[in-house]
Amino acid sequence: MSDSEVERSSKRMRSNEDSPEAIEEVIRNGTASSIFDTFERHATTVADATRAEDGPMNPFSGLKYGQKYFSILKTRRDLPVHAQRKEFLDVFHSTQIMVFVGETGSGKTTQIPQFVLYDDLPHLLGKQVACTQPRRVAAMSVAARVADEMDVRLGDEVGYSIRFEDKTSDKTVLKYMTDGMLLREAMNDHNLDRYSCIILDEAHERTLATDILMGLIKQVAERRPDLKIIIMSATLDAEKFQKYFNDAPLLAVPGRTHPVEIYYTAEFQRDYLEAALRTVLQIHATEPEGDILLFLTGEEEIEDACRKISLEADELSRESNCGPLKVYPLYGSLPPHQQQKIFEPAPAPYRPGGAPGRKIIIGTNIAETSLTIDGIVYVVDPGFAKQKVYNPRIRVESLLVAPISKASAQQRAGRAGRTRPGKCFRLYTEEAFKKELNEQSYPEILRSNLANTVLELKKLGIDDLVHFDFMDPPAPETMMRALEELNYLSCLDDDGNLTALGRLASEFPLDPMLAVTLISSPEFYCSNEILTLTALLSVPNVFVRPNNARKQADEAKALFVHEEGDHLTMLNVYHGFRSDEARENPQQWCFDHYLSYRSLQSADSVRAQLKRIMERNNIQLVSTPYEDRSYWINIRKALAAGYFMQVAKQVSGKKGYLTVKDNQDVLLHPSTVLSQDSEWVIYHEFVLTTKNYIRTVTSVKPEWLFEFAPLYYDLE
Ligand code: ADP
Ligand code: MG
Repeated sequence: MSDSEVERSSKRMRSNEDSPEAIEEVIRNGTASSIFDTFERHATTVADATRAEDGPMNPFSGLKYGQKYFSILKTRRDLPVHAQRKEFLDVFHSTQIMVFVGETGSGKTTQIPQFVLYDDLPHLLGKQVACTQPRRVAAMSVAARVADEMDVRLGDEVGYSIRFEDKTSDKTVLKYMTDGMLLREAMNDHNLDRYSCIILDEAHERTLATDILMGLIKQVAERRPDLKIIIMSATLDAEKFQKYFNDAPLLAVPGRTHPVEIYYTAEFQRDYLEAALRTVLQIHATEPEGDILLFLTGEEEIEDACRKISLEADELSRESNCGPLKVYPLYGSLPPHQQQKIFEPAPAPYRPGGAPGRKIIIGTNIAETSLTIDGIVYVVDPGFAKQKVYNPRIRVESLLVAPISKASAQQRAGRAGRTRPGKCFRLYTEEAFKKELNEQSYPEILRSNLANTVLELKKLGIDDLVHFDFMDPPAPETMMRALEELNYLSCLDDDGNLTALGRLASEFPLDPMLAVTLISSPEFYCSNEILTLTALLSVPNVFVRPNNARKQADEAKALFVHEEGDHLTMLNVYHGFRSDEARENPQQWCFDHYLSYRSLQSADSVRAQLKRIMERNNIQLVSTPYEDRSYWINIRKALAAGYFMQVAKQVSGKKGYLTVKDNQDVLLHPSTVLSQDSEWVIYHEFVLTTKNYIRTVTSVKPEWLFEFAPLYYDLE
């Protein structure tokens, strides 16, 4: 037995005493084991007697537990995982890697990390527990909840870490984080030494980062026998994970869901949004008490639907006897205080005994398995989600609204039966469900541009990508494209080794093209400006264009337009935001100019963080004087130097463009600002809808491209 194992097992000695003094004694001696059990027995009496200050001590904060702890503890005990705590700990102790599956809402994400914490007390060894989430919203929201449950301040003992936001401290023992962030940490800490236990949650989502982490952690596990690993997943398709992790043992919490009646539409719905609104209002008008969850595909669609439903519901309640309806949006870029609102209870009826009040949550896939909202009885599922697609042949990665899989549809329906029998309204035909939907969605690794991933793997010291133990290996063509792209960007040399530039690029939490643009920008005397742009490109759209005020919004945007492109226009917006005029009341200024205060504010914070990385790596911050003729030219040159692979050329005499390398017909996205005679442009994004669009576009000169990327343009 190694030293740490000895320490572990001595800590695990059981104590039968459950007086507060005994517990404190146990904690002082570092031999706490079933304190969680003990507290539980206390909880009923202490909670009921509301004398929490006489109760036991929180082993993490060292303070007495407050009332909050005990009141939540009661509801926590009703979660299905709770009945299995002992079995969980038995398996946890008997093996290094385990797989744990359970229905959404059974308590995996919030409870399992605490089972580990209370049993292992990792802080006594200076270690932490990490729990990964594919989505930032889930990481933030769950961390907030668990901080409450443990009666500590968010950011102290329990924190979260997502890209551009770290809410942890020296005290942090339990860290919820996006899978992408853990991957970034691994780049500088190959053995993930700060953790005693790593929980990969929502593994069924098979995000790119989780897939890479699984491969990585499998290797780390061999080097670190003391590291515990838990793979958690919502579906019962656990065998694949077990096999991958050398036949790891499985523990499954039996589901405790109620029956859900499924309704299909009789015909294909041409307009799923319209159908969704109609269905929601009908449920509200005719169905008994219970909240509604509607799945839509993205922020714009959701905000729009929220407005429409609120309006119509108000009308309904005036005209008929409907109760109040509160509408909440839920999507990735929602600010935290608004995220937490979805957990507020439904509104009370207008008068006692009147028609029920309800809440309706209109959310993206986040609500499918990442977050559980109690009280949902009705689910409306139009059958679509935004999904990443990648075509290595034309090197285009894009987000596309596409039909969901059968597995997703089942998960969505399941959300209706958590607290009592529910109903799920599928806005497609039963025939379509049976014949047209795939069984499962493809793992993201099969649908992504892998340039970023390859750079990360190289930084992780994994050179032999072909033999890396992927759960589902990506297509060789996709891998080739990624290597090629990184080679053109000079991040990899011709032998596929990381160059100095590549190493530097991997320091930035950015796509390689954007990272390279930023790193090279001092050569063009505009690193301050490219830094700003990089920040603006990393946050949600700064322009606000409400459906009922499009004209006003467009007029406001015209004030900032730089006719040589969107990047320059965005820079003008930022200059405006930082001007004296705006500084007095930036919120009002943004409102008046149809700009998102929230986005600009986060751009500021992202900018500060990227700036620190630049300073740490001695990348100079320089500007061309604003009055100088080459101020804007230099910025365009810098963009061309990084985005030379995303270039389109105007088709002569036509509106359309052709991408340079792959001859794809594309149109400028309607949001584009650009003067007529911009023959060559670089673009930030390729948007696939019914047409091919390029979005966020700036005009460049062909001679720059040939000068900066002679290899790519076959000029050598
Ligand atoms: P799982 O990971 O198995 O899907 P969770 O641990 O996320 O389940 O959720 C368990 C329960 O915790 C949910 O039923 C929900 O009621 C509660 N919960 C989770 N997050 C919050 C929150 N932010 N506010 C209130 N309750 C929450
Ligand atoms: Mg969960």
